[in-house]
Amino acid sequence: MMKTIQLNGSEKRVHAGKIFCLGRNYENHVREMKTDVPTRPVVFLKPSTALLGDGETIVRPAISGNMHHEVELVVAIGKEGKHISSDNAYDYVLGYGIGLDMTLRDIQNEAKQQGLPWSVAKGFDTSAPISEIIPKDRIRDPHALEIRCSVNGTIRQQSSTRNMIVTIDRIISYLSSIFTLEVGDLIFTGTPEGVGEVNAGDVIVAELIGFTKITHQIQAA
Ligand code: MG
Repeated sequence: MMKTIQLNGSEKRVHAGKIFCLGRNYENHVREMKTDVPTRPVVFLKPSTALLGDGETIVRPAISGNMHHEVELVVAIGKEGKHISSDNAYDYVLGYGIGLDMTLRDIQNEAKQQGLPWSVAKGFDTSAPISEIIPKDRIRDPHALEIRCSVNGTIRQQSSTRNMIVTIDRIISYLSSIFTLEVGDLIFTGTPEGVGEVNAGDVIVAELIGFTKITHQIQAA
């Protein structure tokens, strides 16, 4: 079980901390889910045991018959902070990677209908595959990145991070008004449109185009 973050171009490994995830942060995804742009960011957490390294198998738990991919830019935190202003937010960033917010859509829909938490739908083992982290000094503008998800060679999702509703500086500022951000914390910044089902035997590739990618096979428990 991977619980460390690998930094590109370095032997250094950082212990993985909290995993924050944003929901409904791309307008076209909000539309495809037939929901509304939230007045405040939608935030949920995954446990560190959800993390998965490149090449490892994503396992759909037996309780679900409908697992979805959500490709997302991941921000890694490199400095501890609380009540961080948007102006200083990038000082707290270690770097960026690509991740998949794997989701049990049937279980999540049940939870939504009943007003129950998403922990099972979003936090199961292998629900958070992430790439190595590209140091921030190699990425001039984190809102000018292309992210992509392909399944069995077919592109399912592709978008620019400029389409995010709440920008990274504001996400960091908002989260840090509630939670202490620690070194090794990860932030999944939301998915663009095109989410869809994956089944046993499928191969999923998530890319931060020009920088890094991860490849995972799907298995059903
Ligand atoms: Mg997501």
